[in-house]
Amino acid sequence: MNKIQGGCHCGHVSWEFELPVKTVVKCHCNNCRKLQGSDYSSWIVVPKSQFKVNSGREEISTYHFSEVSQKYFCANCGSTVYGINGKHFPTDFMVPLGEVDNYSEDLAPKIQVYSKDKAAWVHIHDDEPVVS
Ligand SMILES: [Zn+2]
Ligand SMILES: [Zn+2]
Repeated sequence: MNKIQGGCHCGHVSWEFELPVKTVVKCHCNNCRKLQGSDYSSWIVVPKSQFKVNSGREEISTYHFSEVSQKYFCANCGSTVYGINGKHFPTDFMVPLGEVDNYSEDLAPKIQVYSKDKAAWVHIHDDEPVVS
């Protein structure tokens, strides 16, 4: 199995990508907190050429939260379906780890970033190196 599939909550938008991915990031930054509504967020970093939207393309809306970064979301249910982090990963899509339908060990978080912004109760896991 080298294809990972997933999509938004209502099911209109579905996507797939091929393994291996570049990395899987657990992010503690303030942008992710606000955008995803959670105390931290986990993102699969997938080279653009390995990712495709299979359905619901017409349902996808875009929110630009910086000059180089966008989030794409389902206009029907509001789920983020992917994002672009133009600062750190300009050639990749950031895919929300929580939207995967067929999980694989390959998708376990590999690194943690923006740990200086983390919520006080969130513990850094020793097996996921802090890179910023
Ligand atoms: Zn949806
Ligand atoms: Zn973040």
